[in-house]
Amino acid sequence: MGLKSQPLLILTMLTLVTASAFAYELQTTGESGARLRWPGATVELAVSESFDESSNIRGADQAYEAIARAARAWSSVAGIEIVLSRSKELSVSPPGRRGDGVSLITIAQTPENLLLFTGPNSGRPAVTRLFFDKKGRILEADIVLNPYFSTSTDGSLGSFDLESTLVHELGHAIGLGHSAVFGASMRTNVARNGLYSLPFTSARTLSRDDIAGARALYGPDDSDGACCGSLSGSVGRAPGDESEVFVWLEEKETGAVGSMTRANDSGEFRIDGLEPGAYHVYSRDAAHGAAYLGQIEVKKDVNSELMSKAGSTAGRSLLSGVGFNGQLSTIAVPVNAGRSFKIYVSGTGVLTDLELGISAPGIEVDLSSIEFPDYGKEVSVTAFVVDVEGSVPEGEYTLRLFRDGELVDCIVGAITVERLPNPWSHREP
Ligand SMILES: [Zn+2]
Repeated sequence: MGLKSQPLLILTMLTLVTASAFAYELQTTGESGARLRWPGATVELAVSESFDESSNIRGADQAYEAIARAARAWSSVAGIEIVLSRSKELSVSPPGRRGDGVSLITIAQTPENLLLFTGPNSGRPAVTRLFFDKKGRILEADIVLNPYFSTSTDGSLGSFDLESTLVHELGHAIGLGHSAVFGASMRTNVARNGLYSLPFTSARTLSRDDIAGARALYGPDDSDGACCGSLSGSVGRAPGDESEVFVWLEEKETGAVGSMTRANDSGEFRIDGLEPGAYHVYSRDAAHGAAYLGQIEVKKDVNSELMSKAGSTAGRSLLSGVGFNGQLSTIAVPVNAGRSFKIYVSGTGVLTDLELGISAPGIEVDLSSIEFPDYGKEVSVTAFVVDVEGSVPEGEYTLRLFRDGELVDCIVGAITVERLPNPWSHREP
């Protein structure tokens, strides 16, 4: 292969990447300024028999069990029980004040369901339609998987992972919105199996941010008597500054991302459902980059407060995405404890005079491994090897960028340490 063919190869990789991240969609019907939640501690959902009959599910005999595992993921961390049954019903309830009273999970190719996947929704793997009253009480939640798309329970290349999709949609069904944490199950974007040459099974496992979101609505499950506390406060904002500001916590001991929220226009924020412990608090906005706000202690049944003038930094955001196996995306890179992996980070401007770090003390960037592969003029890319110590707990970790020791920018939850194996180890540490 001659040198001339190289730019073509790179272009192909970038094209693949943009095609690999799909956005999820949530539809709400009814009006409410209140937080949406089910009034009781039990939610009944009916699984349509279309899952037994769909020719678009690979490993269909495992479909019901995959859906049940997704339901247990939420029930096991928060004070809400998702009870599944089977149903002959096929179609989503049409939009309106009320549905038909049955919360349905379906993949049937009926005209009502297909209507959900037209126009801007045509590329979405699933849509959840919520019905609720004026007080924010959820009355019905219908989850429709895109009947046109290939879905699987066995990691089949090019298909969507059924369990991951259901974990995400069931999060909507119990009232959660989207997460800004890369690596969270409630993150806006989803990949097909095959991104980074891996099955997309990361979202099967809830992140701390997902768990905090569910506990904020329903409290912890019975087994966790220690939980929960909350944090509220404000971050500094320059007058007239309109960029969105996100605030997040990282566990002081492990560096794992605890939870993340968006501050309102006045810079005020609140995060509920937090595990007690010591945390570092940070903020980032898409225009100015990241800032360190301070340290707090979260205690059970106590709201801690953090007032900071920091937050609107003079810098600017530089980072846009991460990557693995030569592909760039906005999907977290899954790694395993006790092994080494080559990670990519993409951004704008020159990243060469900047210093990279990971929020976990047990994840080390090998400085001798840093390289700057050429992905064209539009984007700056840095590749580097991280050594993940065997003691690093599962969770999402932040990729940090420094200049002269000063924090410049972050990708929150860019790396997710998990049990599901990533076989593409760079070398044994
Ligand atoms: Zn969604």
